[in-house]
Amino acid sequence: MGNDSANCAATAAKGCFMSQLRRAAILKMASTAYEMNLGVLNGVLHQEDGRWYLGNRDLLTWLARHEGEELVIILGSLQDENPLTTRTCRTCGRDYSDLECPYCRANRIRLRGRA
Ligand SMILES: [Zn+2]
Repeated sequence: MGNDSANCAATAAKGCFMSQLRRAAILKMASTAYEMNLGVLNGVLHQEDGRWYLGNRDLLTWLARHEGEELVIILGSLQDENPLTTRTCRTCGRDYSDLECPYCRANRIRLRGRA
C-alpha cells in the first residue's frame, strides 16, 4: 500500500514498526475468526449508488442474511495508528502482544490436546 509507506516515512521508525505489528495482530485475529467459520470480510469500505460495500461485498445484503440473530461484529482498521498493546501473562509472567499468551496457549494445547 503506497499510502502506508508514506505514513511510515512520516512516522518515527519505532511507531511505524508498532503499527505494522498491530496490523499483523489484526490480520491474525481475522484469520483465527475465519478458521472458526465466522463471517470475515476485508477490503476498502466505500459507497456505490447509496449502498455500502466492503471490497466487492454488499454490506446490507451480507447483514440481511443474519437478520434476527444475536451477533458480535468486530471492526479492525488496518490504518489506525494505535500502538500495539503488550500485556503481561498472569500465569507465566511473560510479555505478549497476541490475543493470549502464546507460551501458555502452546502448553495448554500440549497438555489437553486442544486450544
Ligand atoms: Zn503465559
